[in-house]
Formats: sequence, structure tokens, C-alpha cells
Amino acid sequence: MGLEEKLPNGILLTTVEKLVNWTRKSSLWPATFGLACCAIEMMTTGGPRYDLARFGMEVFRASPRQADLMIVAGRVTNKMAPVLRQIYDQMPEPRWVLAMGVCASSGGMFNNYAVVQGVDHIVPVDMYLPGCPPRPEMLMDAILKLHAKIMDEPLGPTRAALRAASGKRTELI
Ligand code: SF4
Repeated sequence: MGLEEKLPNGILLTTVEKLVNWTRKSSLWPATFGLACCAIEMMTTGGPRYDLARFGMEVFRASPRQADLMIVAGRVTNKMAPVLRQIYDQMPEPRWVLAMGVCASSGGMFNNYAVVQGVDHIVPVDMYLPGCPPRPEMLMDAILKLHAKIMDEPLGPTRAALRAASGKRTELI
């Protein structure tokens, strides 16, 4: 009797999915991309006091082609929006976006013509993190919640298709 016949339906695929997702969430490499004051807290999170390396994230990549997480740390101006989108487009799938702080999430106090009222107008956002600025502990908490979300994602082309079909790939923490 083959292995597939001995195991309950789907158990093998589920295990592979969990394994692949575990490797993905355990080695998220953020793109080096700070926009405003929130970026200071993001840099602090990567320093020795908060030690983001504990979660396999010690490498902030200067090339988007080597990154799979975009932390939008700060307000996004209309002039910067095409640049941000281009960087996102250069990141390979699977990729995730975390909107750090109220400015990136909704424009925050900058309710004016020059600032994008939420980075989700430019790129799909997986996780919103409120605060002005969010403390490093909050950023780490958002990253751990993103890890949990990645663990539940299906493999293969269905991942992108599910997101497109849902019309909403966001989560409020
Ligand atoms: Fe700066 Fe606050 Fe906006 Fe972050 S949320 S970019 S700290 S004004």
C-alpha cells in the first residue's frame, strides 16, 4: 500500500504547506526603505536592544529583488508613490507589505494634497500597524502576527488568486 493510501486525505500537502510557510516566515528579509520618522523606530528594532535577528530578520536588503517584506515606515507623498510601487514590483513573490504607523496606514495628520491617504492606494497591504510612531515592541508584535498569517497561507498560484478574489488582503491589528 502506498503512502498516500495510508494517510488521510490532504495530510501530505498540508504538511508540505506548513513546512514551506515555516521557512518563509522564519527568514523574512525586509527591503531597506524608510520614509519618515517611523523609520527611526524601525531601525531601532533592528538594533541590539530589540534584536530583530531573533526572528530571522537581521538582513535588511538594499535590493528589492532580495527582499520579501516591505515595511512602509512613514508617510508616502504623491511624488514618492511611483517609486514605492516600482520597488514593490521588483520584489519577487511571495511578498508582503506592512504599513507602519498611522501615516502609512491612512495619511494620519497629513490630510493634504501632497500625501497619499494610505499606502494601500499604491500597494496591497497585509498588515496595518497603528501608532505615531509605533514603538519597536509594536513593530515586532505586528511582524509576529504577520508570521502567523503566513503560516496559514496556501501554496502555489492559489495564493495570489485568493487575494485577488477576496478584494481585500488586509488585516487590522
Ligand atoms: Fe512620523 Fe508619526 Fe507619521 Fe510615523 S506616524 S511617519 S512618527 S508622523
